[in-house]
Amino acid sequence: MITEEEALTRVLAAVKPLQAVPTTLFEALDRYAAQDVTATVPIPAFDQSSMDGYAIVAAESTTTQPLRVTGEQAAGLDEKLTLQSGCAIRIFTGAPIPAGADAVIMQEDVRREGDAIVCTDPVTTGENIRRAGADLCQGQFVLRMGEQLTPGRMALLASQGLDQISIHALPRVAVLSTGDELVVPGSGPLQAGQIYNTNGLMLRGMLAQLGIRTSTQAHCRDDLQSTTETLRELLRSHDVVLISGGVSVGDHDQIKPALKELGIEPGLWRVKVKPGKPFLFAQSGQSSVFGLPGNPVSSFVTFLLFVRPALLKMMGAADAQLKPRLIPATSGTALSNPGDRPHYLRGTLSRGQFMPFGLQQSHALLSLSRSNALLRLEAGQDLQAGDTAEVWLLD
Ligand code: AMP
Ligand code: MG
Repeated sequence: MITEEEALTRVLAAVKPLQAVPTTLFEALDRYAAQDVTATVPIPAFDQSSMDGYAIVAAESTTTQPLRVTGEQAAGLDEKLTLQSGCAIRIFTGAPIPAGADAVIMQEDVRREGDAIVCTDPVTTGENIRRAGADLCQGQFVLRMGEQLTPGRMALLASQGLDQISIHALPRVAVLSTGDELVVPGSGPLQAGQIYNTNGLMLRGMLAQLGIRTSTQAHCRDDLQSTTETLRELLRSHDVVLISGGVSVGDHDQIKPALKELGIEPGLWRVKVKPGKPFLFAQSGQSSVFGLPGNPVSSFVTFLLFVRPALLKMMGAADAQLKPRLIPATSGTALSNPGDRPHYLRGTLSRGQFMPFGLQQSHALLSLSRSNALLRLEAGQDLQAGDTAEVWLLD
């Protein structure tokens, strides 16, 4: 059995970013940049007013001498006005600063007297002027390859006059649920011994949270021939096949035999982690096969540990983005792991404190449904209430 770290290293070594495709900025939301972008338009693009007021010479605001208002500059086209000594130019937020002015006095700090103003609160040189390039200079990085397109980054790209960006294609993913006992939710009541398929929906939900909103849903019975045929078919048209169930060593676990039929050698099988020990990974040409154990919590945890980073890498995310969001916390209770594998406990993180919730067995869906965090206990590790630990935030 290999360690979790070794398993992740092998999975990540086997997958690579998918091809780059140009797309509109709006469609690129939440995706990962396949290109660097440097600034061609500085921000601000020109010296401009940050207030509604009057463009003046700062030194002339210290006297009680009225300043004659000789023109007006609104935001928009530059009127190319020039300020003369002893004068003021009416100006508005975002408007270009007229030549000769070195400050803007807020309209609240002047008294208007006919066609003149009297300054009631003097300004200093440069006050209320946003200087060209103060925020972003030409040639500065706007976006780096592998960064995620947030609304703020989209806005910065738009400030450069861009409406397109190159991003990596989304992986085509199939979710294959295996098991004779599975019944499609909504298709009718259960017969004795049957259960509803919960992993299919859960895994497709986890894919959707990564931005992979269209995935193929498939099911096959615990029968070698249909498992082999279904896998062969799915591998033809998908970059990733996510299997749940059937990867263990039971007589009805058909994934390993089916892969063998297809001539696919598992790159790894069985990982030192709880839950999730029977996790399997294989490569078939350009496609990846992830075999997740059927117990819902095992599927959930192994998805987070191995599938999520692999998909993010295929989507072009930078290495730093593949890591979980770890938050420093304290344990709300004593916790111990007497086993020989690291154990991911499910629980809630609230005000910096982690409390395990409900049953911690790998079939315990209620606890999964109520949890917002995972706490990893090393093999043999004990924590007392109040001990510090890093927890993995799920939301
Ligand atoms: P397996 O890994 O196929 O041995 O399955 C382990 C456990 O997970 C069994 O109790 C299965 O009934 C259950 N299981 C497998 N697949 C699913 C699924 N798609 N939804 C809910 N439970 C499942
Ligand atoms: Mg099964």
